[in-house]
Amino acid sequence: MEHLRRFVRQKPLLPYTRASALGKGRFAPRGAPPANRARYNRCGAYTERMPGEFEYLSWLRARTPAAPGVLVGPGDDCAVLEPPARPLLVTTDMLMDGTDFVLSECGARAAGRKAMAANLSDIAAMAGTPRFAVVSVALPRAAGGTAELLYLGLRDCADEFDVAIVGGDTNSWDGKLVISVTAFGEAHARGAVLRSGARPGDWLFVTGPLGGSIRGRHLTFTPRVREALALADAVELRAMCDISDGLAADLNHILEESRCGAVLHANAIPISNDAHELARTSGKSALKHALSDGEDFELVFAVSPEDGANLLREAPVPVFRVGECVEAGLWLDTNGAREPLAPEGWVHPM
Ligand SMILES: [Mg+2]
Repeated sequence: MEHLRRFVRQKPLLPYTRASALGKGRFAPRGAPPANRARYNRCGAYTERMPGEFEYLSWLRARTPAAPGVLVGPGDDCAVLEPPARPLLVTTDMLMDGTDFVLSECGARAAGRKAMAANLSDIAAMAGTPRFAVVSVALPRAAGGTAELLYLGLRDCADEFDVAIVGGDTNSWDGKLVISVTAFGEAHARGAVLRSGARPGDWLFVTGPLGGSIRGRHLTFTPRVREALALADAVELRAMCDISDGLAADLNHILEESRCGAVLHANAIPISNDAHELARTSGKSALKHALSDGEDFELVFAVSPEDGANLLREAPVPVFRVGECVEAGLWLDTNGAREPLAPEGWVHPM
């Protein structure tokens, strides 16, 4: 829902091409040249195919291995997939040059990797197993080699989690690079872990140190797919969310959906080295960075006190207890003194 809202608000007003990669030219006006040579956007303006698109598509198809559950992969009008045995999880996230990465600094491969990893992080947030993905790309014109590097970056992350890229669409335009990934996953045998199941008394955990991801981790993070599955096997995860907007903001999503509050313990928040490093020059404390910086892509989750105690005794993956749920409000406890905590975090400028 969060991603949908973001998508709708950010939908650009600029004309964009709608012809599919296979050249159907749905919006081509009458008398237009054949769709495989030209495209018309919604306003009827002439746009160009990505240079060498067909070469690119055959390059891409040659690199797409057969994968379980994929009856027909890239190259036809649709992919044909075998539905998973358990409920299907679907998520989409769009990344844009200048907002989610800076292409001139990180390169297309890192951008592609991040686009896939951010989507798999949302599957992890439900304790699901990612299975398939489709990718739509708007390439800046005259960006030679970008498409190939982008695909390699997407595959870097997809391959690590046995995710098959089963289709997509590639356009070029006068704007910056935009990558939209839609990922499909399979729910855990215990069901998908929602944001709405936490209750007062539950213990709250995170899966890793937080803050300062802007120093590089926002590009190189590993989505916590394996951690989420191991935790779901070990305990009953009552509510979970990935930390994309910041701990306080994402925990607040859980609290709103679960209709309860929480106390975080300042001394228990795991603070990353990046947050300490950033605090030397940012004018903010390392704790503040850990609480409100975005894109850590760790998980925050709630379990019963019994399961929490089990995790402290023997956790299948590293976890840090950061607080507990209460009746209402979001609070920061520093050595017994409790203050309201604003659910601040990274918000996409609208
Ligand atoms: Mg998320």
